[in-house]
Amino acid sequence: MKWYQLSDVELEKKLGVAKQKGLSSKEASSRLRKFGPNLLEADHKTSLLLLFLKQFQDFMVLVLLAATLVSGLLGEYVDAIAIMIIVLVNGIIGFFQEQKAEKSLAKLKELSAPMATVYRDGSWIKIPSKDVVVGDLIKVASGDRIAADIRITKSNSLEIEESALTGESLPIAKHSNPIMEDALEPADQTNMAFMGTMVTRGSAEGIVVGTGMQTAMGQIADLLVHTQQKATPLERKLAELGKILIVVALLLTAFVVVLGVIQGHQVYQMFLAGVSLAVAAIPEGLPAIVTVALSLGVQRMIKKKAIVRKLSAVETLGSASVICSDKTGTMTENQMTVKGIYLNHAFIDVSGEGYNPKGSFYLNNKKINNKHLDSLLLYGALCNHAALEKKKGKWLIDGDPTEGALLVAARKANISLEDTEKFKVIHELPFDSDRKRMSVVVEAMDGSRFVITKGAPEVLLPRCTYIQDEVSRRPLRTKDEKQINHAIDQMADHALRTIAICIKPIAADRSLNDQIIEKDLTFVGISGMIDPPRKEVKAAIAECNAAGIKTVMITGDHAKTAQAIAKHLELMPENGKVLQGHELSKMTQDQLSEIIEDVYVFARVTPEHKLKIIKALQDKGHVVAMTGDGVNDAPAIKASDIGISMGNSGTDVAKEASSLVLLDDNFSTIKSAIKEGRNIYENIRKFIRYLLASNVGEILVMFFAMLLALPLPLVPVQILWVNLVTDGLPAMALGMDQAEDDVMNRGPRNPREGIFARGLGFKIISRGFMIGLVTLIAFIIAYQGNPDHLIYAQTIAFTTLVMAQLIHVFDCRSEKSVFARNPFQNLYLVGAVLSSLLLVLIVIYYEPLQPVFHTTDLTIKDWIFILAMSSIPTFFFGFSKK
Ligand code: ATP
Repeated sequence: MKWYQLSDVELEKKLGVAKQKGLSSKEASSRLRKFGPNLLEADHKTSLLLLFLKQFQDFMVLVLLAATLVSGLLGEYVDAIAIMIIVLVNGIIGFFQEQKAEKSLAKLKELSAPMATVYRDGSWIKIPSKDVVVGDLIKVASGDRIAADIRITKSNSLEIEESALTGESLPIAKHSNPIMEDALEPADQTNMAFMGTMVTRGSAEGIVVGTGMQTAMGQIADLLVHTQQKATPLERKLAELGKILIVVALLLTAFVVVLGVIQGHQVYQMFLAGVSLAVAAIPEGLPAIVTVALSLGVQRMIKKKAIVRKLSAVETLGSASVICSDKTGTMTENQMTVKGIYLNHAFIDVSGEGYNPKGSFYLNNKKINNKHLDSLLLYGALCNHAALEKKKGKWLIDGDPTEGALLVAARKANISLEDTEKFKVIHELPFDSDRKRMSVVVEAMDGSRFVITKGAPEVLLPRCTYIQDEVSRRPLRTKDEKQINHAIDQMADHALRTIAICIKPIAADRSLNDQIIEKDLTFVGISGMIDPPRKEVKAAIAECNAAGIKTVMITGDHAKTAQAIAKHLELMPENGKVLQGHELSKMTQDQLSEIIEDVYVFARVTPEHKLKIIKALQDKGHVVAMTGDGVNDAPAIKASDIGISMGNSGTDVAKEASSLVLLDDNFSTIKSAIKEGRNIYENIRKFIRYLLASNVGEILVMFFAMLLALPLPLVPVQILWVNLVTDGLPAMALGMDQAEDDVMNRGPRNPREGIFARGLGFKIISRGFMIGLVTLIAFIIAYQGNPDHLIYAQTIAFTTLVMAQLIHVFDCRSEKSVFARNPFQNLYLVGAVLSSLLLVLIVIYYEPLQPVFHTTDLTIKDWIFILAMSSIPTFFFGFSKK
């Protein structure tokens, strides 16, 4: 027998699970141990040895090693061994940097790993999909990616898109009845849901029959193409820049070598110096440091509850100029409470707070309790999937908060679970943001049936032909409609979210045709609920404003409700416009682009409208961040520059399409992520400036010395040591620098600007030139044309170069001036500079190392001279912004 042929009872028996309780957690972990995790394959990891060897595959490093070997054979053992050791240490540092980058990327992957809802020990819980085992009872809903192979036991208008498995992109309707045929292909097993496929509509429960490689997807897992993190635009740009820098550095060093030889230096000595210079000057560590800086930034974002799924988003975040955000749950708490009810053309007030089911109903300040109100509340509780529970003294909702609010209102009128269980839901048309309504067909104990539809009032009213008054239903007149519309506006003006409730009797023998269910309805009443704005959002919107980022609210809710909340959040200026979905539909793309800058609220829109909005904003040159949570939001999330999904309420499909996930679904987290994104980009600019200016300095000092027919101001091992001690740690520390105070007071970065924009190129060349110049001057002054002074002069040049770089690093922290920031704010940097300094002091003063590094003791006077010289590059430009 195949899984699809079995009945529920047979399934339960075969899989050793009772539907009432699900698996026990003990049994589940024993199955997990026995059959392994629900994963398609073991993760292939790059071996550590390979990662280590990778550090030495660089062409110039290989040339350096070869050159060192030659110099070793020529008798220069000390130099050769020293160089080898430095190259090795460099490799080790590179290895740790890359390992850190890899580890944090793996951690990211883990954080965005999918979850599944299973029934264990008698309650529904969310677990990582990899922990799902055969026999688990599992629940899926629209937007979920199926976690394992499931035999469906209960389904609700379920449709699944199976293209990942079968190539067929049209969703397939699924059911829960056994199928008796033999040898069916997966595509024809319509009571099965397969791992990796996607629920596009409805919901279902089922029992897991296969996990990991035992699933239909597992059979074809070898065919699956691995998706790897692609290099971000910045990483690509830097890789290109790296190539150019290699050529420039090689040309310059070749020039230095040729000049040196012409000036009478020994060929092999010049060759070794040239290769060392090339190794030092080529910023081979740059891509790794960028990745580390990006991923460290990503770690900081996680602490602020934002998970970056695509590294490239970090860069784009800094350029965001518009945030299009959902209202419900993102700008508001998504904690709905029914505050008013419109019934019999009168307003009833509801008391009580939050989800606590204690409260009363008041008409004209008098407590009321009548049958008509009870039936409206009962309908709301029946057309409902939410559950109310008290955990640790707190009332909580499991399910949709809108439905939760209706349930709480019903409990306030003492309508209990037993009351609702007297009715059986026999059919359902699920809610989605396009339809803005949901219907159920229920059967009472006496066999009579009726439809309950709830949804946006303007959507339901045109479907109503009757209105229910206290005793009977009567035809809905134009006057009634006018009154109802007026009531909707009134409720919405008070920021209430409105849900109309309608019914319709239906004969027991009538077929349940979806087309007729939601027609000729009887209007019963409207529930109005508040959803308070999140406290932090107002300040976050103001901060975005100051940062030149416009915030736009996009909501399925009523225009007036949206406007009332937008006003409260001060999202909209006086002349700001609200545009409604039906107006948007009528506009051409160009018409929308024309007015879009003035629109701050889009109301009653469907997810499809979001694409049009994004396009119009992008036409205007904006970089758009767009939030979404449903299945239908995925195309818009993909089309935006920064797709954002919700960690709590978002569907798997939306999360997969997004580049940023908000763990707390909170608007202000987007602001924090943008701030962090801007800071990371600035930090990358900071260490690029530092590294390249240092390299320019190193090359120029050698270059000028050769031009002036001087001896080598730096010997190869010194050059490599400078490269090692000044490049690595301080650059990394710059990558961890705090944001400048005004990062959110500047406009967004132009996405087309190059890395050297805003004066960075000039800063690199000018500071680099000065570093080279002062080092050379210090060398000349110390040398005084006397060969006996050579080692002393080289020590002075070496120390001046290092100190000039270590002072310059503090200037790199700000684009304004070296005095703009407190140098002790970034303790990593202070630590990095001190340890670099220590490493330099060791090779100057530790006697056994002096012959290795061609150094000699320096006096206090020397140090004063060195400090004076090495301060010049930074303080010469200290006051200028250029
Ligand atoms: P946002 O897009 O900001 O999250 P929203 O939650 O109001 O806003 P939708 O979920 O698309 O957007 O809801 C649109 C409308 O549909 C609501 O204003 C409400 O009238 C109605 N509605 C919402 N939830 C339900 C539900 N569970 N059943 C029936 N109708 C609903």
